Amino acid sequence: MKILRNTKKIKCDVCGGSGSKEQHIFVCSHCGFKKDYLTPADDTNQNLIFAADINAFFRNKYYSLKRGETFELSVPVRRFYKNPSPQKNQINFFTSKNIMFLLEQHGFQFVSRKSRFSLILDLIVRKV
Ligand SMILES: [Zn+2]
Repeated sequence: MKILRNTKKIKCDVCGGSGSKEQHIFVCSHCGFKKDYLTPADDTNQNLIFAADINAFFRNKYYSLKRGETFELSVPVRRFYKNPSPQKNQINFFTSKNIMFLLEQHGFQFVSRKSRFSLILDLIVRKV
């Protein structure tokens, strides 16, 4: 096995698979999730794209809602044909598949989405 210098194996926050870190950007080779380790993250995990811990974001949501309650989740997502321009200080970069996977893992399901092809994924999410 060849170990590249400046490349560190890291576990993906979304799927648990391993990906590599090139400079300060982690890219998961399984699900395509990207994380920027240079930009300071939001340790309160209030906003998904700035959150230090995206799993904590969903855990907090889960505990703050009752079963059957909904919240709106609006996230910029990469499409195969286009990338949204990064927001200032954005550290987590998703695809719509990443988001659906995370919702399922944390006990949510999406009720509706506004636009199927938009670069902003706009979902109404319900705690199951
Ligand atoms: Zn992954």
